Amino acid sequence: MSRKIIVAGNWKMNKNAAEGKALVEALKGELADISFDDADVVVCPPFTTLGSVIEAAACSRIGVGAQNIHWAASGAFTGEISADMLVSSGVKYVIIGHSERRQYFGETDATVNSRLKAALGAGLTPIVCVGETLAEREGNRTEAVLARQIREGFAGIDAAVAPGIVVAYEPVWAIGTGKTATPDVAQAAHAFIRSELAGVFGTEAAEAIRIQYGGSMKSENARELLSQPDIDGGLIGGAALKADSFAKLIREAIAGSKN
Ligand code: PEP
Repeated sequence: MSRKIIVAGNWKMNKNAAEGKALVEALKGELADISFDDADVVVCPPFTTLGSVIEAAACSRIGVGAQNIHWAASGAFTGEISADMLVSSGVKYVIIGHSERRQYFGETDATVNSRLKAALGAGLTPIVCVGETLAEREGNRTEAVLARQIREGFAGIDAAVAPGIVVAYEPVWAIGTGKTATPDVAQAAHAFIRSELAGVFGTEAAEAIRIQYGGSMKSENARELLSQPDIDGGLIGGAALKADSFAKLIREAIAGSKN
């Protein structure tokens, strides 16, 4: 099955409104020569930068995503943002369960599941992050961890909407460390994730779900990673913060996906 690749930039806590606008304006220029039929391109700025980025991305095919979402529709949840607030601002995608949120902000598979349901209910495209820590990999627990994250994170989701979910495999030991999973290691994890997704949603839906790789992806390794059969894109941190490096990576990813 051919899946359109999706490359998303996770800006984390970087770029104010003016800087975000400037980055998207530059990215539009850098991407003038690519076909957006080959790849979905998404940027995920901080909440306060969403407005200026959405304005700058209008009339382009760059999609805009948030980095988190709350599961409740409204109410006494100081500091949180609801699905309706994102959708009514023009947001189309949302990252859920990033390892930094699991590590520093108490995110669990149960909260991932609640956020995922809120996102799908509002018509947002969720990018759900899974991945093992270094200790889990060294303890031969990678598959058990991924299986649990998928089983609990995706519980109660209808198979009919599953193809609209994007999964990001992000080995925690590769995020921001400069250590990338080798294409073979990443492919093995992606194939395992897809088989677990098939267990939850059935083979047809699992074959349609796009699985991104994330963890020190850059233009130098994007082509080889994307040439793997189960790697359908990337979730990019550091290399997404400059228009030229992100655009170069996107071009390499497209080339790899055509191999
Ligand atoms: C991320 O935070 O999702 C990520 C993949 O970061 P980096 O590309 O910097 O490793």
